[in-house]
Amino acid sequence: MARTALVTGGTRGIGKAICLALKQAGYTVAANYAGNDAAAEAFSKETGIPAYKWSVADYEACVAGIGRVELAHGPVDILVNNAGITRDAPFHKMTPQQWREVIETNLSGVFNMTHPVWNGMRERGFGRIITISSINGQKGQFAQANYSAAKAGDIGFTKALAQEGARKGITVNAICPGYIATDMVMAVPEKVREQIIETIPVGRLGEPEEIARCVAFLASDEAGFITGATLTANGGQYLV
Ligand code: NDP
Repeated sequence: MARTALVTGGTRGIGKAICLALKQAGYTVAANYAGNDAAAEAFSKETGIPAYKWSVADYEACVAGIGRVELAHGPVDILVNNAGITRDAPFHKMTPQQWREVIETNLSGVFNMTHPVWNGMRERGFGRIITISSINGQKGQFAQANYSAAKAGDIGFTKALAQEGARKGITVNAICPGYIATDMVMAVPEKVREQIIETIPVGRLGEPEEIARCVAFLASDEAGFITGATLTANGGQYLV
């Protein structure tokens, strides 16, 4: 039977490309999203992949949502923590709400989604947790104290949990994309975007499919010896 993959924030951008790559690799795929019903409907119509609505920032909603997914598609073998938001502001203007929203979605959301699937993976002796962190969690970014802190936290979470999952057949890895051409980056003013591209050695934004291929590899049996890793895919913009 095909393994089941659940991708948070799977209906748009990088998440959508991840869903398609995993479907193409033969997995049963389910997507989660937060609120954009129109995008989710269009996604399901186009791809044939079901989309389930709940916020990863809400632990109880995650437990209930994962329950619905598992009832329909079987236990989650591969969890891709991809959902993420930005609420950018220079620190002197950053509000507690901007801080909280980003931490609750981008960091606590990873706990909220991973915790309910963890014991099942341990019992079955197989699992893949793949979290989409960011270049800005590695290097920090002006006006992103909230986002950089959350994404750096995702890397620490990954390294800690990898040690706990290793003997149980569960690998836990993070991917740090550089700037990828999605709604999130297209929302940045064009002038700023052009300045960003000048700092990328390959001279362009990345494509969502380039991150999706990294996920498909880390999900595969071939990647069983890779755990606790941070896979950087940023066009050479930041070398770690
Ligand atoms: P998009 O803004 O294009 O899509 C975000 C997706 O996440 C949407 O499906 C959205 O759902 C969902 N989402 C947002 N908040 C929640 C929530 N609380 N619960 C469930 N789903 C939620 O983002 P990208 O594709 O650009 O980014 C995907 C991931 O990659 C993020 O974690 C981001 O931080 C990371 N990343 C992106 C980079 C880039 O350059 N684009 C660079 C580095 C990292 P809905 O449609 O309902 O709003």
